Amino acid sequence: MTEILYYEYPMVVSCTAKVVSCTAKDGAYLVALDRTPIFPEGGGQLPDRGSIVSGAGTAEITDCHTVGGEILHTCSAPFTPGEAVTVNLDVPRRLDHAEQHTGEHVLSGLASKLFGAVNVGFHMAEDYCTIDLDIELAPEQLVELELAANRAVRADLPVHTEVTDGDDASSRRLRKRAEKAQGEVRIVYIDNGKVDSCTCCGTHLPHTGMVGAIRITDSQHYKGGTRLWFACGGRASSASVREHAALTALARQYSTSREELPNAIRKQMDELTAAKAELKAKSALLAAGTAAALVENAVKAGSVLITCEKLAGMNANDLKLVCDRLAESAKEPFAALVFAENREGGTDYRMACSQGVKLSMKELCAAVNAAVNGKGGGSPLFAQGKTSRGVDAQTVDMLKSYMIKAIEG
Ligand SMILES: [Zn+2]
Repeated sequence: MTEILYYEYPMVVSCTAKVVSCTAKDGAYLVALDRTPIFPEGGGQLPDRGSIVSGAGTAEITDCHTVGGEILHTCSAPFTPGEAVTVNLDVPRRLDHAEQHTGEHVLSGLASKLFGAVNVGFHMAEDYCTIDLDIELAPEQLVELELAANRAVRADLPVHTEVTDGDDASSRRLRKRAEKAQGEVRIVYIDNGKVDSCTCCGTHLPHTGMVGAIRITDSQHYKGGTRLWFACGGRASSASVREHAALTALARQYSTSREELPNAIRKQMDELTAAKAELKAKSALLAAGTAAALVENAVKAGSVLITCEKLAGMNANDLKLVCDRLAESAKEPFAALVFAENREGGTDYRMACSQGVKLSMKELCAAVNAAVNGKGGGSPLFAQGKTSRGVDAQTVDMLKSYMIKAIEG
């Protein structure tokens, strides 16, 4: 059985140990030691990393898991059972994990005490941490929780652990109950239970002040409760710097202060909504005028008015509006094909005809596609397409002739 040093002495960063076993697996080596300061993955917390040094050299510890009650260090090189080694902890990584995990206890303990929320899930990743609470918390409650958590950090409260048996743990008033716990159970207390008391196998900091800062960075409703994203210590500091830089850049773009940004953005959105409504009304007027002019200049093939034109200052949406307007207002049968240059340097085209016209727009679209190397299609009464190139006057005339012949013939 491995002596677990991080259990009682979380600040131990190096120790001597003896190799118990070494097994090759998937190009690495699983090494068991008689004692270790390395925390294996568990309880939502990521594993420690570090190195093992022997007379033969140094191996990196790239992962660590508990398998069948034994802690197995995944190493980059083999060791001989019985060999004396030194185990070194990756301290910055451990501190980062302990900051997040201790902060998680503070948040979960205070969420329980302030709002009766139960932590039903904790996940620590390399770049984010989440807590799942069983009830929905309002934005004001999240602010209250974050402020209370940081008061607990500034108060530099003691964090201590006790190891006891399952029966004793079950009889204590803990946030996380241990009714079914058997054998040895470890309990972590923050401020002697005033902030948190919980069964836990993870690594913590000895004082809440060492967490530095706790930030709730995001939240969403999740399975009837709340999922919180949070960052502590160095991660909280980095998140603040990143977000401050983004807000400052945004505020400069809006020529306002960071605090006034929501108002400035709301004002711009209102202006955008008004501008869109105005543009829509003007587009409708333009389409009506253009449709009337097209009818005026149309040529006749039998009883059908035919128009085929390239329209300046229009986009694909305007072309559709012109087709709709023709369909609504034409007093005589019609067939229309209209083109407009787009922002990418290509050309959009739309075509429409009234019921009973001999030329199907689907068929006309196929002819246009072939003439301008474009793509598109549609129904007998309306079709649309686009090409990546410009369409010259000669091609427009040629397609107009095609329409006249198809309708007359
Ligand atoms: Zn813990």
